[in-house]
Amino acid sequence: MEETQYYSQQKLEAIQWSRLQDLWQFIWRHNDFYRQRFLACGLQEQDLRSLDDVRKLPVLTKKEIRSQGSALLSNGFRQNNLLHFKTGGSTGKALDIFITEECSELRNACARRHDRWTGWEPGEPIGAAWGNPKLPKSFRAKLIDNCVQPFIYLDTMAVTDQSVRQFAKAWEVKKPTLLFGHAHSLYLLAQQVDTLKIKSIQPVGILSTSMMLLPHERAVIEKVFKRKVTDRYGCEEVSLIGCECEKHDGMHMNIEHLIIEFLREDGSYAAPGEPGRIVVTDLMNKAMPFIRYEVEDVGVRLDRKCSCGRGLPLMGKVNGRVADFLIKSDGSRVAGISLIENTLTDINGIDQMQIVQYSINKFKLNIVCGVEFGCSQAGQLESYFRGIFGSDIIIELQKISEIKAEKSGKYRFSICQVNTL
Ligand SMILES: [Zn+2]
Repeated sequence: MEETQYYSQQKLEAIQWSRLQDLWQFIWRHNDFYRQRFLACGLQEQDLRSLDDVRKLPVLTKKEIRSQGSALLSNGFRQNNLLHFKTGGSTGKALDIFITEECSELRNACARRHDRWTGWEPGEPIGAAWGNPKLPKSFRAKLIDNCVQPFIYLDTMAVTDQSVRQFAKAWEVKKPTLLFGHAHSLYLLAQQVDTLKIKSIQPVGILSTSMMLLPHERAVIEKVFKRKVTDRYGCEEVSLIGCECEKHDGMHMNIEHLIIEFLREDGSYAAPGEPGRIVVTDLMNKAMPFIRYEVEDVGVRLDRKCSCGRGLPLMGKVNGRVADFLIKSDGSRVAGISLIENTLTDINGIDQMQIVQYSINKFKLNIVCGVEFGCSQAGQLESYFRGIFGSDIIIELQKISEIKAEKSGKYRFSICQVNTL
């Protein structure tokens, strides 16, 4: 993977094509679910003649995976020989995912490759700001942890002055080179480090993962730690999709083992720079293949080359989970996260905000206020929302002290509870 990242796009596509052919042949022989699915669409084994033919295949939704369950497993794979995990999912609907050991190792390799883009090297200690961290329990696990991959944790489910000070102390002892965490957890840590005037946390690289990194949060983290943040994007079902390099100019797509498409509502391909629904084919998980899997995120493909010299093509900003889009009365969707970005930059005194949409015309804004927030800012905020969703909407403003994390440790800033079914 260290080598292939610098391959030309043409050479990378040759790898994709060879892996796709291999998976395709495997599926026709060993996976009843897909074989029936393809036959039902009028497809035959000989119908895949080039990479482009992927677009002939039906898109797989989360709903289908939930309803089909273990039917997606290929013949010859037994659940207890596979690695199993449940995806949390911000929508609260869990999926059971099974992968082979080989696939898991490849995913880990891909993550380690990206970790190195931050300046970190394997074996160097890592400081993680994480909700519900999985701490080693057995003596053996602790030993491995300490020798192979030393970690220190800040449990972001309960960030206090004391826990941040303890984290800073542990940092002085183990001297991690990488600071790693959910975007919002890193932001909360940066704020606290700034308030407490802690100087000891000096990472070489900062890696933001598992949730969207908002521009204002990125700015605060970079200012406090005096380092650029490296962002990455993925989902639990297919692991890392796009990774920012040291140039911080878009995310390189991991196309050696993934086919990543950006679709318009009608299923055609979005143009470079045009937001599209992200659909991913995982070329390596034969146990439970994900073919044209709809991730339910919206992102953009970029057609420029990165100055770092890597051949992996670029994708741009992910605009958010489809589930976190808000709905206007005409049925169109608005990325909640964009509204938050706009209001946070245009209206003074809002530190953080969470939007909850209960129905087409009923909203609640949970606001963590700064000192400047008063009646005039509240008025500005209301009229901004009325301008987008209509003058007759009901908006409730609620001041809160912090936005609480979900059980998974992630944060949601835009929650749409409108039943569109
Ligand atoms: Zn690059």
